[in-house]
Amino acid sequence: MVRKIGVLTSGGDAPGMNAAIRSVTRIALNNGIEVVGVHNGYKGLLDENFEPLTRASVSDIMDRGGTVLGSARLPEFREDEVQNQCIKNLKRAGIEALVVIGGDGSYRGGLSLTRKGINCIGLPGTIDNDIPGTDFTIGFDTALQTCVENVDKLRDTSSSHHRCSIVEVMGNHCGDLALYTAISCGAEMVITPETGYDELEVIEKLRYLGEAVHKNHAIVLISEKICDVDALAKKVTSMTDFSGRATVLGHIQRGGSPTPMDRMRASRMGEKAVDLLMEGIGGHCVGIIDNEIASVPIQEALERPRKSRKALYRLFDRLV
Ligand code: ATP
Repeated sequence: MVRKIGVLTSGGDAPGMNAAIRSVTRIALNNGIEVVGVHNGYKGLLDENFEPLTRASVSDIMDRGGTVLGSARLPEFREDEVQNQCIKNLKRAGIEALVVIGGDGSYRGGLSLTRKGINCIGLPGTIDNDIPGTDFTIGFDTALQTCVENVDKLRDTSSSHHRCSIVEVMGNHCGDLALYTAISCGAEMVITPETGYDELEVIEKLRYLGEAVHKNHAIVLISEKICDVDALAKKVTSMTDFSGRATVLGHIQRGGSPTPMDRMRASRMGEKAVDLLMEGIGGHCVGIIDNEIASVPIQEALERPRKSRKALYRLFDRLV
């Protein structure tokens, strides 16, 4: 039976990580298991930046954005030597197993530690919704709410000025934030890694919307790293009836108090992580699929193809 576990947050921070830390801590303590918070992700394992967590340490953190444990990236953690040193540090502190809250890179780190004898369970903490093994990641719902609130505001002003707002949202390799925001805000276009990008097509569609449909404003949602949105906005101004304006929502998408949905997901997943560790299981990641809590081996999850969003893209097209 596991007696002492650690919990860490790694990679980009996401709203709801604190609710996950709280859940892991409270569920473990209520089962007689000691809990240690590891500060700054895998870097904290190397630096032995450990803090015993009590019920009180995780009081009043549920509603806070970010992560009270801090997060970091430690590229050297891929190296055997670094991992071995971390395992020594964990053993010295009596930490027998770990809950790792982060993205797929963090999952890979957890899998390496599991293979070396420290059972790790991964929880999907990222706003991008790009982690396999779950329908939704912790943080996605809050980021979506932030995107929707901001795009609604942009729509108010763009409709008063015959403007086309091109809004860049996060989602490296995953278009969910752009797609869900586009549907929720009634955008005119959505451009994501899944749709591909053709500048001429965008200009032609906007011309059509302006000249044939007589739209007096347009919103284009675009995932990050697809094109230079400022350059695209200038082209829109010079080649269509619209005045093009680019807005990059940036890091505000990572902030804010987590929505109740993110708090619920984080609390449920935290509970499952501790249950798995109590069963002696490691190398798994936790998710919620069709509203049922689930876990799969990390390796299997990472090899799974991403869930198709075809039906949602079709819905978007039918709503324009
Ligand atoms: P996000 O989705 O927010 O980027 P992430 O967890 O995918 O989160 P990464 O920077 O990819 O973010 O990974 C976080 C940390 O996990 C890395 O800094 C590194 O310490 C560890 N890590 C990443 N990939 C591996 C790997 N292949 N093997 C071992 N550890 C890894």
